[in-house]
Amino acid sequence: MATSNHLSDILTLNLAHYQQQHKLTQQQSLVCQHIQACRTQALGEQQWRCGACHYEQRIFCSCRDRHCPRCQGQQTQAWIEKQQTEVLNCRYFHLVFTLPHELNILAHYKAKELYSALFEAVWQTLSQFGMTRKHLQGQLGGTVVLHTWGQTLTQHIHLHCLIPGGVLTSQGEWHGVTSDYLFPVKALANVYRAKMMQALRHRELVIEQADAAHSG
Ligand SMILES: [Zn+2]
Ligand SMILES: [Zn+2]
Repeated sequence: MATSNHLSDILTLNLAHYQQQHKLTQQQSLVCQHIQACRTQALGEQQWRCGACHYEQRIFCSCRDRHCPRCQGQQTQAWIEKQQTEVLNCRYFHLVFTLPHELNILAHYKAKELYSALFEAVWQTLSQFGMTRKHLQGQLGGTVVLHTWGQTLTQHIHLHCLIPGGVLTSQGEWHGVTSDYLFPVKALANVYRAKMMQALRHRELVIEQADAAHSG
């Protein structure tokens, strides 16, 4: 049997069976529909013709869903090119902030609030260190990307932060990092934990089962 490399073929072969045992959310089934329809007649087609030789080509339209591997390639490339125009001429640091897995359940029914709490807590933490650390004391910048799955396709919610090693002071001066690391990890983790708890509380995000287990 010929093997296929496309996610859409895998979905066509197995989705119906999968759905007998697993319930998809509305968003998940919509994404599956998009991926399966991508570059097929379902989304219509474009007809291209060369003005010189009249050679014609039909191209099926793409779905442009951000989960679609066929469409993502181009978007990823465009994103990389845009990021590259903003790269500063300095050393960069890569920091990862992970959400404790006990809180994963919140992503199933309050995803938007949870992710906004995570971004807020992480950015407040980093900004606070940028403002208060000796030799820095200014506005930090960076690119922060949310990943909701780990490499083994299990739920693993974390933020990747690409941080230029320096700050802009209120006088508009650049203060670069002189050490081999950006911030001390342990101190960073403590502040992040406190900020995350605070951000969850502000949004009234609680895990009922865990609370019940602790009070019992
Ligand atoms: Zn697509
Ligand atoms: Zn990741």
